[in-house]
Amino acid sequence: MSDLRPLRLRNSLSGRVERFDPARPDEVRMYTCGLTVYARGHIGNFRTFVGQDLLRRFLEWKGYRVLQVQNFTDVDDKTIRGAGEAGETLRDYTTRFIELYHADADALGVRRAHHYPRATDPEYIAAMVRLVERLLERGAAYRSGGSVYFRIAAYPDYGRLSGAAVEGRLAGARVDADEYDKESAADFVLWKATEDGEPTWDAPFGAGRPGWHLECSAMALELLGSGFDLHCGGVDLKFPHHENEIAQSEAATGEPFVRHWFHCEHLLVEGRKMSKSLGNHFTVRELIEEGVSSAALRYLLASVHYRKQLNFTRDGLRQAETAVGRVNALLARVPESSASGPFVPADPGVRACLDRFEEALNDDLNVSRALAEVFFALRQANQGLNRKDAEDGAGVAEWAAAIRSMNEVFGVFEMEGAPDPSSGEDLVEEIEGWIRERRDARRRRDYARADAIREQLRARGIALEDTPDGTTWRRLD
Ligand SMILES: [Zn+2]
Repeated sequence: MSDLRPLRLRNSLSGRVERFDPARPDEVRMYTCGLTVYARGHIGNFRTFVGQDLLRRFLEWKGYRVLQVQNFTDVDDKTIRGAGEAGETLRDYTTRFIELYHADADALGVRRAHHYPRATDPEYIAAMVRLVERLLERGAAYRSGGSVYFRIAAYPDYGRLSGAAVEGRLAGARVDADEYDKESAADFVLWKATEDGEPTWDAPFGAGRPGWHLECSAMALELLGSGFDLHCGGVDLKFPHHENEIAQSEAATGEPFVRHWFHCEHLLVEGRKMSKSLGNHFTVRELIEEGVSSAALRYLLASVHYRKQLNFTRDGLRQAETAVGRVNALLARVPESSASGPFVPADPGVRACLDRFEEALNDDLNVSRALAEVFFALRQANQGLNRKDAEDGAGVAEWAAAIRSMNEVFGVFEMEGAPDPSSGEDLVEEIEGWIRERRDARRRRDYARADAIREQLRARGIALEDTPDGTTWRRLD
């Protein structure tokens, strides 16, 4: 892969745009902080997931093999509380939200990670226990009040990722209820003493449950090894989560944890911070139910540079619908070539366009310039079609192939939208089939499956209703 023109990408650790060089020549090991599964993710979360997906797709487009791990945080205060309130086991409760995550991510065309470790999977709990033991051995952790804490004084580099911001926070760190258990206010919990009724795991240093930061370090080290290439997350995770991940991982292994940190900025809705109380809080499903196409939503989320705040507006969505529609209209007229193997354009103009596209994304993922090349190719293809000149046939096909190649990175054109909930015998039969499958799932107490079926139908505009006489269905307006 030495002949590749290198990607230059901002590294949050240095604060600079740097040449991205994975440790192994052709492979990128990538870790993504996933959702804490006590609620359905909102479009702010999916801005980050789509941003990371774009980076992964571009690396794959350039020829790298990407190994991606994305965790689910399925044990913390919120998941435990939620499961208790729902009267479900923690496992069942969090499984439901994991299924919903997959439904939303699939709808948006986010490529699936290769591993989705859950913090409570036994092999990762074992890895967390080993990590804490190692930190205790090395004097970087201490036991207090039944919990184990990380000793920040044992890691002099603490604060490198989030920089100056952390100094103020450390000095003014809020005094927690368990403050008196800690040597220093900034020390953070690795392993928590549990209260009655909370999920608890045995460990040589005392029964308890893992802290959030510990979970990600253990899962990342277990599946990717230390010194992996790329760690991604929303900008809000920089401090304390990622700072703590670095500290505990490097204190345990004595090696650099991650080569390159990638953070996506926040999403605003109509210029304001998204919040339930402002009524501007959306999930992917809610927007799709409203009739927004998943392609337009993905386009809007993917078309703003990852380091800029993304202002999500209705106008922006309409523009996205139009942009996607224009490209799809062209592609519908020019069928995909059946030629196999990588696309190598003969036309120098097409080659130059693809080169500029790659250069734009090599430049710290400049998506605006890259999209400009998509629309440049669109104009060339449309002009060719309008000339209706037989000799232009090959040219049009090449421009369309170039758009399809660029779309491997953006993933927004020719997307499968939500299936049309049209009437007809087939649909009725299909829904009856789903109702039977859901009933069977409930009989074998597979509520996650049952709920996933309900959600999938709901996403298509079909609501199920359970009555004493069985399940009926109706169309949502
Ligand atoms: Zn994490």
